[in-house]
Amino acid sequence: MADTVRTRIAPSPTGDPHVGTAYVALFNYAWARKNGGQFILRIEDTDRERSSPASESMIFEALHWLGVSWDEGPDVGGPFGPYRQSERFEIYRKHAERLLAAGAAYPCFCTKERLEALREAQRKAKVAHALGYDGHCRAIAQGDGRRRREAGEPHVIRLAMPREGETVVADLLRGELRFDNTLVDDQVLIKSDGYPTYHLANVVDDHLMGITHVIRAEEWISSLPKHAQLYRAFGWGSPVFCHLPLLRNTDKSKISKRKNPVSLNYYRRAGYLPEALLNFLALQGWAIAEDREEFTLEEFIASFELSKVTLGGPVFDLGKLTWMNGKYIRRLTVPQLLERLRGDLVSDEYLLKVLTLAHERIEKLEDFVEYARFFFVGELEYDAEARAKLVAKRRTAAQTAQALDRLLEENLDQLLEWEPARIEETMRSFCDANGWKTSDLFMPVRVAVTGKAATPPLFETMEVLGKEICRRRLRRAVETLRGMKAPGGTGTHGGEDETP
Ligand code: GLU
Repeated sequence: MADTVRTRIAPSPTGDPHVGTAYVALFNYAWARKNGGQFILRIEDTDRERSSPASESMIFEALHWLGVSWDEGPDVGGPFGPYRQSERFEIYRKHAERLLAAGAAYPCFCTKERLEALREAQRKAKVAHALGYDGHCRAIAQGDGRRRREAGEPHVIRLAMPREGETVVADLLRGELRFDNTLVDDQVLIKSDGYPTYHLANVVDDHLMGITHVIRAEEWISSLPKHAQLYRAFGWGSPVFCHLPLLRNTDKSKISKRKNPVSLNYYRRAGYLPEALLNFLALQGWAIAEDREEFTLEEFIASFELSKVTLGGPVFDLGKLTWMNGKYIRRLTVPQLLERLRGDLVSDEYLLKVLTLAHERIEKLEDFVEYARFFFVGELEYDAEARAKLVAKRRTAAQTAQALDRLLEENLDQLLEWEPARIEETMRSFCDANGWKTSDLFMPVRVAVTGKAATPPLFETMEVLGKEICRRRLRRAVETLRGMKAPGGTGTHGGEDETP
């Protein structure tokens, strides 16, 4: 293993840039810096359907904003070839061939129908564990397997997990972790379309890129036995594994977007300072001294000792982050504060977008302030008229809440290109699919995101507000609607039957 410490983050570009990515990046970055090593950014886009360039660029931007810079990556290059997995498929294929030749992996020709029947039978027999592959194709002789592959028979390549005993892997923070091999599935390494899965690509790249410390979130522990067996099968020494504790909501559940904003874009848009966010994230596992919570990135790096990360279930307490952010704001001089404001919330770019929508609608320049208020404030207050219109015509508050919730979580949230045409299309097809009149749905959405019943064109307004603010306000509207008293009589329109 190389002497120089090399760490990495390996995000999959399949959504908005996640606060968990920043958290893991910070600890990897600090460990590399502390040891004079390198921190690498690798884009794990093996899931071709869910990966998108828009998501990738948001990851770059969010990390730049935070000031966490990488030494090698898809945009800056480095000595190990491309740092985007979709450009490295040939490498994974060759490595899979190596495993096949060594008998550590095997081709599996089972059809979808057989696998489904197998799952069904396992379900019926109530197999308590390992609802996984039964190893049917392991019995095929190597030569036969090769011939069938050469003849073009569709297949995947699976890892031949040992069928007995345990896989023991050391984790820097948790000591020896033991996994019963019979409970670990024969993982697919290469899919039938020739694409690698996360497990193969991740292990091959960590090895080839000379990663010395794999520092990642706790949720990957279940992959460890597979990874350890892959290292063994290739005859490679494994890196140090260190699984950081998961970020948790205040109720201790895994951090989730229904309870906390998880997109870094939100924190930026709402005006959290990157240095405050980093300080807060560092506290989720690190204490510089018992009575000290505020420290700079430099101080964190200087004091950081990976093996002393605490596992005590850190809590992502938004209130605390906000309090801390206030302290950081007060440390800035007024001119510095002005500069921060000009950076995002009142940047010329943003003002121009808002002005474009206000242009036709104001008579004096000062009207702008009142008219455009909702483009700048964080939380909205609904006035009585707006509150009544938050409930859709012909629906109850509960039905409206349910629709807004689904529209947000299952539809709008999936949009990575936040453009008027896409927003409109998404909302219209939601209406089609759910039997809603568009006007019935658009009004509550309008009120939710602006606090008003009359606004500039809805989709353009939503674009300018940005996905994060719309998301936050729609969530708040759902909560408000859920908190409204159930209608007493037969009426459905909230204006009449909800108590404001
Ligand atoms: N691609 C994985 C992710 O999305 C990487 C996990 C790891 O660090 O091994 O987080």
